[in-house]
Amino acid sequence: MSTPEEARRALEAVYQRVEARAADISGTHDWWPCRRGCDHCCRHLAAPLPLTELEWRYLEEGLQQLSAEAQEELHARVDALARQETRPYTCPLLDQETGACRVYAHRPLACRSYGFAAARDGGLFCHFILDLVGKHGDADIVWANQDALEEALARLSGPTRPLSEWFARRQRQEP
Ligand code: SF4
Ligand code: SF4
Repeated sequence: MSTPEEARRALEAVYQRVEARAADISGTHDWWPCRRGCDHCCRHLAAPLPLTELEWRYLEEGLQQLSAEAQEELHARVDALARQETRPYTCPLLDQETGACRVYAHRPLACRSYGFAAARDGGLFCHFILDLVGKHGDADIVWANQDALEEALARLSGPTRPLSEWFARRQRQEP
């Protein structure tokens, strides 16, 4: 059983693994399209973001750095998202004017690995990346392993819940 500090360090280590892979891939391919302001993936979520409890605690640190006004607006957006029946979803944590993530340093694994990881049964790339990989090839790309990353996080802090559920607990002030 690890202490909260050990668990947090382990989470950061998983995140750093993904960041290192992403930096290696984008740093060695000048055609790589991911950059600040490219927010298509944040505007086209197939489902509300999934986070483990440890990831949610980490994300909350980022939320706490936002103004009270911004946090109130976020809660309203999350409430609206919970009622939304159509897809895709726009992430409520996106600054829609700048296309930047409001909690970038604290974003969950799903956001860090998207575009840079492949599942065991196939790719998980965005269509911009798929188009470019079709043009340039991916024989020299070492993708992160999405399943292995998710399994590492599940071992650390159990199953994921959707972002809206974590927010609802926060509003009810549940642990
Ligand atoms: S994953 Fe795709 S949509 Fe998202 S930042 Fe990268 S290129 Fe843009
Ligand atoms: S948490 Fe940030 S990076 Fe992830 S989908 Fe939302 S806005 Fe995009």
